[in-house]
Amino acid sequence: MKQKPHNYAPVERSTSSGIPPITDQFGRTFNYLRIAVNEYCNLRCIYCMPEEGIPFRSKNKLLSTEEIFRLITIASQMGVSKIRFTGGEPLLRKDLSKLVKFANQIPLIQSVHLTTNGILLGKYIKDLEQAGLTGINISLDTLKAERFKMITRREGLDTVMDGIEKAIESDIPSVKINIVAMRDFNHDELVEFAALTQDNDMTVRFIELMPFDSHQIWKTGKFYRAKHIVADLKKQIGAMEQVNGSNTEHYVFRIKGYRGKVAVIPAYSRSLCSACNRIRITADGKLRNCLYGHEETNLRDAMRDGDSNESIEQMIRKSMRKKYKDGWEAQSQGKEHRESMTQIGG
Ligand code: SAM
Ligand code: SF4
Repeated sequence: MKQKPHNYAPVERSTSSGIPPITDQFGRTFNYLRIAVNEYCNLRCIYCMPEEGIPFRSKNKLLSTEEIFRLITIASQMGVSKIRFTGGEPLLRKDLSKLVKFANQIPLIQSVHLTTNGILLGKYIKDLEQAGLTGINISLDTLKAERFKMITRREGLDTVMDGIEKAIESDIPSVKINIVAMRDFNHDELVEFAALTQDNDMTVRFIELMPFDSHQIWKTGKFYRAKHIVADLKKQIGAMEQVNGSNTEHYVFRIKGYRGKVAVIPAYSRSLCSACNRIRITADGKLRNCLYGHEETNLRDAMRDGDSNESIEQMIRKSMRKKYKDGWEAQSQGKEHRESMTQIGG
């Protein structure tokens, strides 16, 4: 895997619409919108979905192309400058490249990202590149075929590896690999994953397991705490220098002489809530002001009932203003009513 120099030239960007940004009572500003565009998935990762799937909503309950266009437009006017499409598996949606292209041509949007399991990446990489995708996160929890089958309950490691290779060779500027780090399943693959950063200018990110699966496998001793991942990386790899990363990447390192970066994300430990800049929209169009929260604001129905853009804007502001101090406080307010991360988008 060798990376080509990028020749991608972004459209001319502006930074403000003049409308005040989205803020909350703790001084946070929200400029990053994550939209789950799908609940369906072609994998069944053990920490995300049961083998038999979940009761998927019918297509008409999910946001349409036009509704997503509208929400991106409204959000961009309110200071959102970064969009991520997630799911479910976003590449199962036929209009995904169209969504990327739409977001990319809005001058107020600085970057457009995708989180994917990589199965369909090889097929769509050219379309995504042409649509102007600026960042791609590929989820891959193991480099061993048998384990891949055990974790995802499907075949496909070679297909995902091929997709990763194509992403690296593409003009998409940022490529990251997301690994949900789990004891017993993949805790012994830290070094192998980190080795991918030797020749490739990409980030390999180890993410803590979170309690969002209906089978609660995280209660079965698989949880691998971020600080233990960092300690094991230091022990097993040795010469690593600390470097800067995005604001969710708590521990970011470069192995001496390597091109890429290694990061650890305390997704469960929640040490980064004070810097949170995220707004989440579920595939069925509900706004969530925290991954760990329970309250949802139904933007889909508001749009379908004919509410104006100003009214949607007020709904977004009101929900984000009510955001709790951190994910612990948000979680303590009630019981989660989503069955799977596939509905929220991670
Ligand atoms: N299907 C796409 C994928 O897998 O990349 C996008 C949706 S998936 C829900 C988004 C991210 O959430 C993936 O990186 C996945 O590994 C992560 N995820 C899902 N369930 C999780 C859990 N219980 N704990 C930690 N991460 C989880
Ligand atoms: Fe599908 Fe992504 Fe969930 Fe795995 S983590 S089952 S790929 S939505």
